[in-house]
Amino acid sequence: MAEIMPHWLTKQATLSPNRPAIEMVDGSVITFYELMQQSKELAKKIANYGIEKGSHVGILSNNNPTMIRLVHALSYLGAVAVLLNTRLTKEELNYQVNDAMIKTVISQDDLLEKANQLNVNQLIGFTALERENPLNITLVTEINLDDPFTIIYTSGTTGFPKGVIHTYGNHWWSAIGSALNLGLSEKDKWLAVLPFFHVGGLSIFFKSVIYGMPVYLVEKFHEQVVLDAIYHHGVTIASVVTVMVQRIMDVQGDRPFPSHFRCMLLGGGPAPVPLLEKATNRNIPVFQSFGMTETSSQIVTLSPKDAFRKIGSAGKALFPAQIRIDTGIPMEIGEIYVKGPMVTKGYYNNSEANEKSFQDGWLSTGDLGYLDEEGFLYVVDRRKDLIISGGENIYPSEIESVLSAYDGIREVGVTGKPDDYWGQVPIAFVVSDKHEVSEEAILGYAKKHLAKYKLPKEIHFVERLPRNASNKLVRNQLLDLL
Ligand code: ATP
Ligand code: MG
Repeated sequence: MAEIMPHWLTKQATLSPNRPAIEMVDGSVITFYELMQQSKELAKKIANYGIEKGSHVGILSNNNPTMIRLVHALSYLGAVAVLLNTRLTKEELNYQVNDAMIKTVISQDDLLEKANQLNVNQLIGFTALERENPLNITLVTEINLDDPFTIIYTSGTTGFPKGVIHTYGNHWWSAIGSALNLGLSEKDKWLAVLPFFHVGGLSIFFKSVIYGMPVYLVEKFHEQVVLDAIYHHGVTIASVVTVMVQRIMDVQGDRPFPSHFRCMLLGGGPAPVPLLEKATNRNIPVFQSFGMTETSSQIVTLSPKDAFRKIGSAGKALFPAQIRIDTGIPMEIGEIYVKGPMVTKGYYNNSEANEKSFQDGWLSTGDLGYLDEEGFLYVVDRRKDLIISGGENIYPSEIESVLSAYDGIREVGVTGKPDDYWGQVPIAFVVSDKHEVSEEAILGYAKKHLAKYKLPKEIHFVERLPRNASNKLVRNQLLDLL
């Protein structure tokens, strides 16, 4: 039987009309009632373009409040929002536009030039949309948890990006799972600085509407803005990625965070152990987490009470979720499988990936990891990046983690190079800092931390590493640098 709920934003606007839903850096505030009114108004304007239940509408925008109103507006029409990464090239965007069968794109005015190159029937700029007359139509009042709400493409780190369909139920359970884990306080205010076209950023706004919690919206990351948000604007929880933690710590100095700041939720990719140690030593409440677009945001989290004891672990599965390693044996590395109501039911229009990825309700993540005796998850690497050298398994991220702690190395990427004798050998690509570092010195250091077979057989100094639009290292392009 379909599970029906009142529309989230309408409901929250009734429960807490005057509570801030969105606070901005310039001091302006949008209450839940205003957000509802503005989103409904926008929905009636979008209706002029024939958008209706089930329509796929692309949104090309960087972080701003209109983007959030748009997502809610589309839900008032029963349409599906496809969030497009603004850093993608024209070709990459068109791949997603075609794949998701998007006929209409709504774009931030600044991005219209890029949007103009997309193969769509209708392109609407934010300002042009604002100028429309609202149509007198009936808006959605109830949500069916089984209906699709958003489509977000995976980052395309290991191949072509896949369109992940998130139902209302997926976002609902993601928000509930997170609340059961972190708890909710009247005082909570969540910092939204991650791109909203990624699920980690967007999901903050669903939590906001479901919890009745204000979001502090930051349009562009700057470490000082984040520090201000925490010290002076009452932010209690912040979702961040590794480079942000690094940059925040670089400028924070000795001043401890105020006690109301209770969670720095770190996700999106691997976190080097030295960085976690530094954060823990400084009493920064870092919650390591594991998640993917497919899991609608984090699905596994480590709380600070375990952070010291379990450094490097991503923690345990959220209450409604389960994880399992295919080997079934503690401490043994295998593929990570996840299950739970926040996990997507499938990729859009991609039966091949759907067949490969789902087994008995479990999603195979493509990531390798292990569970310790207490059931804490350690993510090791992506299965596709595993290097097998003379029969030994080598995980590039372990080597990267060691080398990244070396003074003078700014970024490092490791991959396997075909080798007649060993099958494959690990080689490293290094972006060095301002001062000179030598291959010899790096290897001398690495020898102290890595078994011999894991030592990079070649070290190449490069200007930059291949990264995708999510700024993730694309290891399968490293060999192209040779
Ligand atoms: P694609 O699926 O298209 O190759 P992607 O997997 O990079 O791209 P995302 O959904 O953005 O797309 O990223 C999820 C991935 O990020 C995870 O599968 C995992 O590889 C990595 N990741 C997330 N959290 C962690 C973590 N705590 N430690 C290590 N890796 C992580
Ligand atoms: Mg993936």
